[in-house]
Amino acid sequence: LSHDYQPLREYAVSAAEKFLSTPNARANATLLMLCRNSELEGVLSSVRQIEDRFNRKFNYPWIFLNDEPFTDEFKQRVSILASGTVQFGTIPEEHWKQPDWIDEKKAAAARAKMKSQRVPYADSVSYRNMCRWNSGFFYKHELLQPYRYYWRVEPDVQYYCDLNYDPFVFMRDNNKVYAFTISLIEIPASVPTLWDTVKEFMKEYPQYIHPNNTISFVSDNGGEDYNHCHYWSNFEIADMDFYRGEAYTKFFDFLEAKGGFYYERWGDAPVHSIAVSLFTSKKQLHYFRDIGYKHDSFGHCPKGSEWSSGKCTCKPDESFNKGGHSCTWGWIHLVH
Ligand code: GDP
Ligand code: MN
Repeated sequence: LSHDYQPLREYAVSAAEKFLSTPNARANATLLMLCRNSELEGVLSSVRQIEDRFNRKFNYPWIFLNDEPFTDEFKQRVSILASGTVQFGTIPEEHWKQPDWIDEKKAAAARAKMKSQRVPYADSVSYRNMCRWNSGFFYKHELLQPYRYYWRVEPDVQYYCDLNYDPFVFMRDNNKVYAFTISLIEIPASVPTLWDTVKEFMKEYPQYIHPNNTISFVSDNGGEDYNHCHYWSNFEIADMDFYRGEAYTKFFDFLEAKGGFYYERWGDAPVHSIAVSLFTSKKQLHYFRDIGYKHDSFGHCPKGSEWSSGKCTCKPDESFNKGGHSCTWGWIHLVH
């Protein structure tokens, strides 16, 4: 018996030795979820899937943030699922609330106009708070200060496949800044003056534009107009040093000063996407086509050996990224 098991034991020992002897085997990273107490069931579902499909092998920490304190029940029921450490934080008011210098009359008129245009979340102030926070504040939260990479998770999303390697280590070892699974077209009425603001910024700060940029991901005519493409930010694995750096800091402050997070409904997805398109090299972006994922009605399922080795529960190659409302096909052409 012991003879039969020898090769397996040797393999296990050598794999463990290799893992332990590799310097920095783990990345400086955390799983991150912004959510409300009322979303507990969806939070449990997402955490359970990430744990089963990935994190039970890697034990990365979790951070949950909320604009209100989490309840004891929330903390208890979430904590027992996690294989790594879990922290719960409250967001400081000054990172979340609509600032006093925003003209509320103007903002209210903009919300009413957007409602008449039937834009989703047209009249929601809390949604705008959330988009602005995800654009310029999450990486400033004290609980995130020790970390470099984050994986953004939302309640009620689906993770269809096993991930048999560490995506954070992949990001770090390949010098990646930002990674996505799905890309699509933004609702133009939510960002009518965003691109004009971006053009103003590019004129004032040309030094931040990367020579190997992907502006052509977000503009089809050399930067004149926004094509409304963006990476869907409900899934993101990215490097917070990018957001904490000079270019993005200047960029966010510039956008913030225009008030477009409240006078329009600028989303964190177009803001992040435009920023990485301008300020990073195409080599620093990554499409995790092997991560099976679904948010609301749009999903992505890997195909072929990625589908089978991932033991995916989705239908192979059934992907939003193949359709006309996706920007991923264009991205693949641009980057390869
Ligand atoms: P959608 O994906 O654009 O439809 O927006 P969601 O409603 O899913 O919100 C995006 C993320 O922000 C989710 O993780 C939500 O749980 C979270 N979120 C949205 N609004 C609030 C809020 O007012 N408070 C808190 N704590 N989380 C929020
Ligand atoms: Mn969502």
